[in-house]
Order: sequence, then C-alpha cells, then structure tokens
Amino acid sequence: MRPAPDLTSSPLSYLQVPPPAPGEIAAVSQGVHWIRFPLPMELDHINLWLLDDDGGFVLVDTGLSSDVGRAAWERLEQQVLAMRPLRLIVLTHLHPDHAGLAAWLQARHRVPVWTSRETERQMSQLLVPLTDAQIAERRTFFHSHGLSDLGSFAASLSGERYRAVVSGLPQIGHHPRDSEEVSWNGATWRWIETGGHAVGHLCLHEPSRRVLITGDQILPAISPNVSATGWSADTNPLDSYLRSLERLVELDPATLVLPSHGRPFFGVRERALELRNHHLNHLDRLLEACREPCTASETLRVLFRRTLSGFHLYLAIGEAIAHLEYLARSGQLVRLTDDRGTIRYARAA
Ligand SMILES: [Zn+2]
Repeated sequence: MRPAPDLTSSPLSYLQVPPPAPGEIAAVSQGVHWIRFPLPMELDHINLWLLDDDGGFVLVDTGLSSDVGRAAWERLEQQVLAMRPLRLIVLTHLHPDHAGLAAWLQARHRVPVWTSRETERQMSQLLVPLTDAQIAERRTFFHSHGLSDLGSFAASLSGERYRAVVSGLPQIGHHPRDSEEVSWNGATWRWIETGGHAVGHLCLHEPSRRVLITGDQILPAISPNVSATGWSADTNPLDSYLRSLERLVELDPATLVLPSHGRPFFGVRERALELRNHHLNHLDRLLEACREPCTASETLRVLFRRTLSGFHLYLAIGEAIAHLEYLARSGQLVRLTDDRGTIRYARAA
C-alpha cells in the first residue's frame, strides 16, 4: 500500500491507489480511507477522508451542498456507514466544497462538528445576507483596484453563491488550535493551523505514521488561491501562506500527503518549494510591471494568460491584490491613490 517514495525522476510521486468509485472508499494508509466526492463544477471532485475511530469514523470535510453531493452521501451511508457509523466531523476550512454539507450531515448522523474558531466565525458571517451598505463597500473596494464591471461575479461578491451551496452553520463542539493533539484509534493527530488560503485553515498531521491531510493548503497540480480582500481578517495573506509553507517544508520527506483535490502523493517538501517559487515568480513579474504605476486590474494580464470572468475573475483579482499588497507591505512597492480613489502600485524609489 505504501511504496517508498521515488523522488529522483519527478518532484512528486503519486500513491499507487486508484481513486475510489462513487459510494466506495479506498484505504490509503493505516486507518485512513479516501472518498472521492463529485462536485458539479469545473473542479469536478473533492477528496474527503475517513479516519478510523473506536467503532466508527472521523470524517474530514463534507462536500458541497447539492443534489449530486447528497446523493453521493446516501450511497456512502448504505455501502459504508451502515456497517461503521460516523462519530465526528472535522472541517479544514470554511469553503463550501469542504464545509457545505456539515450541517446536513450533523443533523442526519447526530455527531459533533469540530473546526477552528475562525472558520466558525467566517461561516456564520457568510451565511447572513449582506446589507446593501456592505455590498456597496465591497463594490467600492474592487472599483478602487481598477475593476469597473463587477456584474459577472455579483453573486460571489454578495455571498449568495456561498449560501446557495452551504447547508447551514453546524453546531461546533470544539475549536482545535494549532499544535493541539487528538488520538483516534491509536493514531495521534496534530492540528497545524496554516494561513493564506483561508483564515483558520487546519491541516492534520500524524507524525509517527507520516500522514498529512492538507485541505487546500498544498495541492499537487494547481496552486491554491491566495486572495486579499478589504474585509478579510488577514491583511497580508500571501505572507501568511509563504510562512505556512515554511512549516510544511520541515516535515519528514517520506510523509504521505492527502490533498483535497488531485491524488495522494509523496514530496511535501518539493511541492511546498514549487508553490513558493510560483509565488516568488509572480512577485518578480509584478515588480517589473510596476515600473509604470498599475492598478491590480491592469496586472491581471501579467499574472494570468487568459481572459477571466465570473468566479475566476473574483479569485484572480484577489490573488493579484494579495501579491501587490505583499510587495507594498515589504516596502518594494508604494500605493498611489488618485483623487477618484483608484489605487495604483508603483516601484518604491
Ligand atoms: Zn479552499
């Protein structure tokens, strides 16, 4: 089940376990089972994990609230959970593909849900419709960064998109903190709080079995989104993300990485360094572009090679602002605000 990692030819080596079919689970390590869960969107799946607990399972993340998602759970209930029940649900972070079905599953299985205090706080805020004044404030934020037409991502901006695919706020029984440990069926897992992708994001690490559940912090094939917005609790998310990668680089190189999207792999150090270099490259390109003062919107063509709209544009402008703010906060760029409130970034003298 667990071949020695071969890191000589490619930076990553994938675990030789085929993805489980819908309604089935696949063992990936001692006491750890993989669920591949359908998503009705471009990113067409999310990985959820079942960890053995005494007489039951701990579930890590839940899937998006949708007809497809609920049908997938009904199959899993018949084929897997009928023999061995859920005991606990834990959420890595607030995003809907992770937390969407937590309230629905909690009601069906009558189990506690654990997640960080920050995840609970953000979910509870997002599940309440914004006031017109709050929506206007968000529109002003994006206008100030040079985006004039916000129509294509209005539902993301207002939070409607989130509320449509999240089944409600589960009751949170415990808020795990960074470095806290918990034992389930002889395995001792340690929470690692990682920033940048989402405030309060939690990874789960089992050092003696060398398993790391990364949520969206490290993914094998795509770079996790790191976005700055005017209303996030984290004002420098790229700095938080790069600092988190530094912690993950230190883990045992033989660690099996269980990401939320893509396949399980070995090579945590290599992937963390690749992701760091990806962002450093973006920072270099932005510094070059800002020889002439640029809005965040004008830098999109520097960072992304395709025309963006809708949710992709929402993520991309957030990513551009995160990088520009990182450079501004480290003194490499300055912010210039004109009399119309438009913010441009320029090289520091
Ligand atoms: Zn996420």
